[in-house]
Amino acid sequence: MEDNKEEIISKNFIEQEIDKDLSEGVYNHVQTRFPPEPNGYLHIGHAKSILLNYGLAKKYGGKFNLRFDDTNPTKEKTEFVESIIEDVKWLGAEFDDRLYFASNYFQEMYDCAVLLIKKGKAFVCDLTADEIREYRGDFKTPGKESPYRNRSVEENLKMFEEMKDGKYKDGEKVLRARIDMSSPNINMRDPVIYRVARMTHHNTGDTWCIYPMYDFAHPIEDAIEHITHSICTLEFEDHRPLYDWVVKECEFENPPRQIEFAKLYLTNVVTGKRYIKKLVEDNIVDGWEDPRLVSIAALRRRGYTPESLRMFVDLVGVSKANSSVDYAMLEYCIREDLKLKRPRMMAILDPIKLVIDNYPEDTTEYLDVANNLENPELGERKVPFGKELYIEREDFMEEPIKKYFRLFPGNEVRLMNAYFVTCTGCEKDESGNVTVVHCTYDPETKSGSGFEGRKVKGTIHWVAASTAQKVECRLYENIVDEEKGKLNEDGSLNLNPNSLTVLKNCYVEPSFEGARAYDSYQFVRNGFFCVDCKDSTPEHLVFNRIVSLKSSFKIGK
Ligand code: ATP
Ligand code: MG
Repeated sequence: MEDNKEEIISKNFIEQEIDKDLSEGVYNHVQTRFPPEPNGYLHIGHAKSILLNYGLAKKYGGKFNLRFDDTNPTKEKTEFVESIIEDVKWLGAEFDDRLYFASNYFQEMYDCAVLLIKKGKAFVCDLTADEIREYRGDFKTPGKESPYRNRSVEENLKMFEEMKDGKYKDGEKVLRARIDMSSPNINMRDPVIYRVARMTHHNTGDTWCIYPMYDFAHPIEDAIEHITHSICTLEFEDHRPLYDWVVKECEFENPPRQIEFAKLYLTNVVTGKRYIKKLVEDNIVDGWEDPRLVSIAALRRRGYTPESLRMFVDLVGVSKANSSVDYAMLEYCIREDLKLKRPRMMAILDPIKLVIDNYPEDTTEYLDVANNLENPELGERKVPFGKELYIEREDFMEEPIKKYFRLFPGNEVRLMNAYFVTCTGCEKDESGNVTVVHCTYDPETKSGSGFEGRKVKGTIHWVAASTAQKVECRLYENIVDEEKGKLNEDGSLNLNPNSLTVLKNCYVEPSFEGARAYDSYQFVRNGFFCVDCKDSTPEHLVFNRIVSLKSSFKIGK
């Protein structure tokens, strides 16, 4: 009973609508779809739509289709089709064999148009695009009827067929729905539903020289696939009466219904295709999958997991009001996902040598190190330790500032998983830069030996120099900073010059052998990192920082 109550409260408005439809017998099943136009890469907003549609189908024991909305032949590319399929699969939204192309329905759409003409609900119009716009009126002015509106059914049928047969030039004639020029909803003022366009289509080639408009094609696609709930974003709310009109007048049985939700917007990121395209073309980013972008391919390359994106989408929820979600929430989700799953390794991003002067020469000791302190299931590994180590440059200060507990002459710290060492001094080059730090160790203080003698305030991580592997690490910041303004005065993006930092001289322990693309790790103190899928090789590992360890974001903030 208690559980039941909880479930009802946590249902979002779309689920409530579906419940209602099912209980009233409007539908006896749930069928959803994701209908991308193959004109670019998918981004985090699309992930929301995919997971929402898939999640609803799953929850109600229904089915989910992937359908390419490829009715507009101008911009469609096979490259995009392939990347979209990969992304949807990667997100875990299973469409099985239900992969459809709207262009395969061109004949049905044509037949629907003929049916409308026969019913006196569509007519061929000779007005130019400008004239149609002028006749349409606006919010204050009712539209004016086209002089071609009362053509006979026979004449319309003949002309529409001639349009199809290539008798008219592009733009010379269109087919319009015959609805209501005085409707307060401008979308209902005899909208164009077919146009002449001599363009080669990626799927149908030159079979057609007339193409249906989106508002006419989309409801038919949904109806053909027996979609029950056609979920789309808010900008289509005003188009819903036309959607309903099309499925009704085309006489589909058990027609689908459209439900709108608010788009997902994220702070400090670029999602507009136009902007991303420009960043790619100007070589400011490394293609559509540059880890600073939020295309799904970019997030995957950066090291985000499907689980983290699902968590994110769940946290964001669905709403009817547009708003922007803090980017930090996405970071919170990947940290949550990885923190127990992935091993915690030692890696030095900005190395400086530490020499333990009283440690025996040519000796390598293998220390037992837990892979994840919070998850014993990940086991332990052996980490080599020796006389010469790399530590982070910032872990030594010749003259310490206040409250600095790491290495400085005379101070004792713990080397993580190893011994206590006391700093004895440093070497410098001619310009005064520290090149080597010296220390001595106390053999009694080995980690795990039960030594309880002294307390130290600082623990630092390290990597043994003789067995260290040199790797490259790439650190990222957001590509734009909303607080500083996303756009310049000329409308171009105000880019963050520090969005990428490449560190070529990082050192990691030898335990990374066999690390493959997309493998991720926690690097002690430095964050979560992922093996780059494009540039990393076994000889030269390249890591992307997914996210740092600390966050300002808290659930419920
Ligand atoms: P375009 O501006 O080229 O139309 P689009 O982002 O709308 O781009 P589509 O391929 O038409 O791209 O979108 C596919 C589906 O994803 C649509 O159902 C759309 O409503 C949904 N969608 C697009 N952007 C977002 C977003 N930011 N949040 C949630 N859903 C989105
Ligand atoms: Mg769109």
